[in-house]
Amino acid sequence: MVMSFDFLSDKDRIFTNVYGFQPWNLKSAEARGDWDNTKDLIAWGQDKIIDEMKASGLRGRGGAGFPTGMKWSFMPKESKDGRPSFLVINADESEPGSCKDREILRHDPHKLIEGALIAGFAMRARAAYIYVRGEYIREAQVLQAAVDEAYEAGLIGKNAAKSGYDFDVFVHRGAGAYICGEETAMIESLEGKKGQPRLKPPFPAGAGLYGCPTTVNNVESIAVVPTILRRGASWFASFGRENNKGTKLFQISGHVDKPCVVEEAMSIPFRDLIEKHCGGIRGGWDNLLAVIPGGSSVPLVPAAQIMDAPMDFDGLKEVGSGLGTAAVIVMDKSTDIVQAISRLSYFYKHESCGQCTPCREGTGWMWRVMERMRTGDADISEIDTLYEVTKQVEGHTICALGDAAAWPIQGLIKHFRPEMERRIVEKQGNPPMMEAAE
Ligand code: NAD
Ligand code: SF4
Repeated sequence: MVMSFDFLSDKDRIFTNVYGFQPWNLKSAEARGDWDNTKDLIAWGQDKIIDEMKASGLRGRGGAGFPTGMKWSFMPKESKDGRPSFLVINADESEPGSCKDREILRHDPHKLIEGALIAGFAMRARAAYIYVRGEYIREAQVLQAAVDEAYEAGLIGKNAAKSGYDFDVFVHRGAGAYICGEETAMIESLEGKKGQPRLKPPFPAGAGLYGCPTTVNNVESIAVVPTILRRGASWFASFGRENNKGTKLFQISGHVDKPCVVEEAMSIPFRDLIEKHCGGIRGGWDNLLAVIPGGSSVPLVPAAQIMDAPMDFDGLKEVGSGLGTAAVIVMDKSTDIVQAISRLSYFYKHESCGQCTPCREGTGWMWRVMERMRTGDADISEIDTLYEVTKQVEGHTICALGDAAAWPIQGLIKHFRPEMERRIVEKQGNPPMMEAAE
């Protein structure tokens, strides 16, 4: 039996200005409920705030889905050798398909700044650094203006929001490298070094910015904090299903009638998400070819397997993919699927920081073979070789970029191998491998 889904109602939306219908400024933000007696929330104390965040079930919204409250609890309760702790907010949104943090930065920046203060207090951080993607020029300007307003109003800085807690917020702009979105590369970059990932462990809570205890959280993860605390963990946890709680900003692009960013309850079935918010698939549901449901770092899913999948961490894992950033890239039957994945291969080759061999050499190698797959100039036996190479890259690199480069190709081979073979046969006639197999 197909269950009907309870769509998120307007009264339960956290991001009430995601489309920028109202001004982003402090006055409008306060009218929307931001900065409402923030000091009362801070008066709960660190332990209660962290317990409430754990109870809400919030999992990191930057892609990896690590439980947010648990991450905060890794931060030390006492300062060692007088070392400060820091919160770093990852606004280096660069995953192809992802564009949700951008809407928060430019239309609802005060939610993020208030969240930074509360989260920073909960983890005993001295300051927050918000690392903004270099290309987000207007967004960084709006964010900086909102930070200035918050300082002027006494909401951050000394005795922030009259809470008795001192807390600074710094906006830092990146310079256009995708890899600086990886948390340890971001820390290196903030320190003024070349943005290259560090080996983990140690995790940032042990040794992060300037060697001090640090937590890196995504923009959306921090911006939802004040509303969760005001409305209660049980309210947030009432959306979605076990292990996949809350509301989420979905970003739908590609071949739908109306691409959009929309906040919905977690676990919404794919079909309902597209029908309700995007006006359906271009040319109708029979025209759907495949979907990349979580930004380019997760494998594609063919149409038949994703229709009824719950859009959450577990539901998309069950169909061999992932929720990632919930950047849903929809491809209809007009898509050259081999070209699409080859283009992603080029992206990862271009963005590899080059410090580990399987990624530096493997991403270039995979892209060059993918290009020959695209033009039909490869040998059919190379499909298996390509798959083998993705397996040599996956899990053998310092950071997740190696996996991210391998998985889209693995998804292509798994689901669209006949299409890869077809274009080789069409270009070259029946090559020997095929004849031998018959
Ligand atoms: P990860 O699983 O290594 O880490 C996730 C978080 O949990 C990190 O903050 C890490 O420090 C923490 N963590 C994990 N295990 C821990 C432990 N044992 N102890 C303490 N802390 C621990 O994932 P990642 O490499 O940070 O992120 C990968 C994801 O990023 C991908 O799934 C992808 O979806 C996403 N991504 C997002 C963007 C974007 O633009 N938002 C870009 C690229 C990739
Ligand atoms: Fe750099 Fe790639 Fe290694 Fe990550 S996997 S550290 S991007 S070379």
